[in-house]
Amino acid sequence: MHVAVLGAGTMGHGIAQLSAMAGHQVQLRDIEAELVEEGLAAVESNLDGGIERDKLTEQQKLETLDRLQGTTTLETAVADANVVIEAVPEDIEIKHQTLTDVEAHVSQNALLASNTSSLSLTEIADALEYPERAVGLHFFNPVHIMELVEIVVPEQASEGTVERATGFVHGIERTPVEVTDTPGFASSRLGVALGVEAMRMVETGVASPSDIDTAMELGYNHPMGPIELGDVVGLDVRLDILTYLREELGERFKPPQILKRKVRAGKLGRKTGEGFYVWENGEIVGPSGDRGESR
Ligand code: NAD
Repeated sequence: MHVAVLGAGTMGHGIAQLSAMAGHQVQLRDIEAELVEEGLAAVESNLDGGIERDKLTEQQKLETLDRLQGTTTLETAVADANVVIEAVPEDIEIKHQTLTDVEAHVSQNALLASNTSSLSLTEIADALEYPERAVGLHFFNPVHIMELVEIVVPEQASEGTVERATGFVHGIERTPVEVTDTPGFASSRLGVALGVEAMRMVETGVASPSDIDTAMELGYNHPMGPIELGDVVGLDVRLDILTYLREELGERFKPPQILKRKVRAGKLGRKTGEGFYVWENGEIVGPSGDRGESR
């Protein structure tokens, strides 16, 4: 199969890698040559990591890279594509523009997938001439490690589209779950619900961030507690998602003051060195010293 991945950033390069590893011919497209090169280099580095961990052989790496081409030309990327997956920035205008450009150059039978993490697939599909072939394929970061792909089904999708999307996900050795196009899909809605309640518990002095995280790690077998996860994802990202889910689903997603304060102070979590925890070189080194948090 021929697969086109649009956007060679955090998500796009990983999606291209999985597709090429599964034996598909892959075109990875970004808007500048340098970004394409960075995406391809990131794939190579992931594959080298796989060899180090005995997950694949040097031969498999070479074969994978052989099936993967980079380009800045949309037409080249999608000309032969049976499946197009866009991983361009999270902006409805950019998504619409990208997919209408794709539709002008791609075969009428191609499946058009979006990796949006929060936008409405129904709204994205609405820009297409043949909206019944659009679907959400929501991958998780880092793509080459994470097992799950949410198949998000827009209002317009045909049954054939969902079947093809499911087959594609199985083919790249990922596990699909099927979700109706609703705000937050399944994963973000539930994950954020847990995260927001954990923040309220910190705010009201129920327990410290590390005790809440330990409770979920040891009591519920979560690999990472909800507060730490918020720091890893980025508190600004968490706040954006909550603001959107509150608008769409109601007050239970109201962002807590403690979260707003941290974002205003530039304490965004691991990426800025402090959030609910203090971070150094990607590791937690202690609790944040903010007022009202230590017990
Ligand atoms: P990113 O900024 O790392 O990469 C986006 C890339 O798209 C950039 O390299 C940019 O130059 C390129 N681009 C912009 N316009 C383009 C166009 N018209 N054609 C081709 N490339 C174009 O972003 P990301 O984190 O990879 O996110 C991409 C999508 O994946 C977003 O919709 C995001 O919501 C979703 N997503 C992200 C994550 C995550 O953890 N980062 C997780 C799940 C889903």
